[in-house]
Amino acid sequence: MQVGYSEEDEAFRVTLRAWFEAHFPRFKDQWPTAPDPNDLVWRRAWEDHVSQAGWAGLGWPLEYGGKAWPLTRQAIFHEEQARIGAPLGVNIIGHGILAPTLIHFASDAQKKRYLPGILSNREVWCQGYSEPAAGSDLASLKTRAVRQGDHYVLNGHKIWTSFAHIADYCFVLARTDATAARHKGISFLLVDMKSPGVRVEPIRQITGEADFNEVFFENVKVPLDALVGEENGGWRLAMAAASFERGTYFIPRQVRFAQELAALKQLAADTMRQGRSRLDCPHLRRDLARLAVDSHVLKLKSYRALTHALRGGPPGPEGSSTKLHWSESHQKLLAIAVEVLGERARAGPEPDSRDPQASAWVRDYLWSRAETILAGTSEVQRNILAEQVLGLPKN
Ligand SMILES: Cc1cc2nc3c(=O)[nH]c(=O)nc-3n(C[C@H](O)[C@H](O)[C@H](O)COP(=O)(O)OP(=O)(O)OC[C@H]3O[C@@H](n4cnc5c(N)ncnc54)[C@H](O)[C@@H]3O)c2cc1C
Repeated sequence: MQVGYSEEDEAFRVTLRAWFEAHFPRFKDQWPTAPDPNDLVWRRAWEDHVSQAGWAGLGWPLEYGGKAWPLTRQAIFHEEQARIGAPLGVNIIGHGILAPTLIHFASDAQKKRYLPGILSNREVWCQGYSEPAAGSDLASLKTRAVRQGDHYVLNGHKIWTSFAHIADYCFVLARTDATAARHKGISFLLVDMKSPGVRVEPIRQITGEADFNEVFFENVKVPLDALVGEENGGWRLAMAAASFERGTYFIPRQVRFAQELAALKQLAADTMRQGRSRLDCPHLRRDLARLAVDSHVLKLKSYRALTHALRGGPPGPEGSSTKLHWSESHQKLLAIAVEVLGERARAGPEPDSRDPQASAWVRDYLWSRAETILAGTSEVQRNILAEQVLGLPKN
């Protein structure tokens, strides 16, 4: 297996790296305080800066203002952005999931209306799929949209909706035919979050942050032209939407994993216990060695997913294997960091604590509990691997 990019791609990387190195440190220095990497205002500001510089719509066709870059170049962009330590954006759902869905399935009028707002980062999107009784089993969703004249009337309760409190719009899966088979009566609607009847209630997380929410729709009027694709054809769109990011999703995450592992080694080297550096502890050295193997394997897996997507193959179980491996290794890495911190972990997760370095590790450790749940839980990924790789019977 050859792992790497072509000479042309590497030359392209040099240009991109020069741009990030010229812009990111300056942008960071001009920020009024030391930026907290998880602060949504900071994340949005950097994302706006990148969009305004023209580095958006990387894979979109030229006709929609995109750059039409091949996946390899998009991957290099994400690698370089992560390498410089830039934060993830807040409109990642708009850029990564909704925009390609619109490009594939929306009407010309919808593309014209919504794509420019995503490209410029002027309009932030959230994803209204999960409900209190519909998560892994999404097709059991109960939110209803009933046609009345020139609009739908939307009623329902979504939960875990990331960024809903700052989003301008939400793409919502709603049942438009209650009599059809579960997957068949669902539609894909674009909902203005400022519509009367939309109520957002933030969910406070164990980290103290509230970056996801409950969203209530109470007799919300949604114009008929906000339906994407066919009425009752939303499941097909939702499944396609889930596959659009698969080539590049893990690229920045594996870069960050390697950076965090290097930071953990440094933390261990700097931490003394009973007069000796923690890095001298054989158990810890064994754990770090295992994480180094995880880091390398994750890199290979993310490149494999990229190669598979480049060849145009249908999404397969490789995504589940990478998701499982990344989320569980990441939890392990952060648990080890908290163990190395020892008493310092009592600083808690808030960035303004008396020990911000310890707090950053604690915050990430606590947040990482979500990683084996979001985008498909570990149990669901294991089911996919059991059925599709091992050929075990369906449960
Ligand atoms: C940080 C974060 C951000 C999120 N952002 C969004 C968002 O923006 N928009 C959105 O719509 N949703 C979002 N979600 C929701 C996410 O998609 C769901 O949490 C996920 O699909 C799991 O659903 P659930 O929480 O209802 O758990 P459930 O599906 O109820 O699962 C409960 C438990 O049962 C297990 N389980 C379920 N089914 C099976 C099975 N068949 N076999 C074995 N075990 C099973 C699960 O693994 C889990 O342990 C987010 C979640 C998190 C954590």
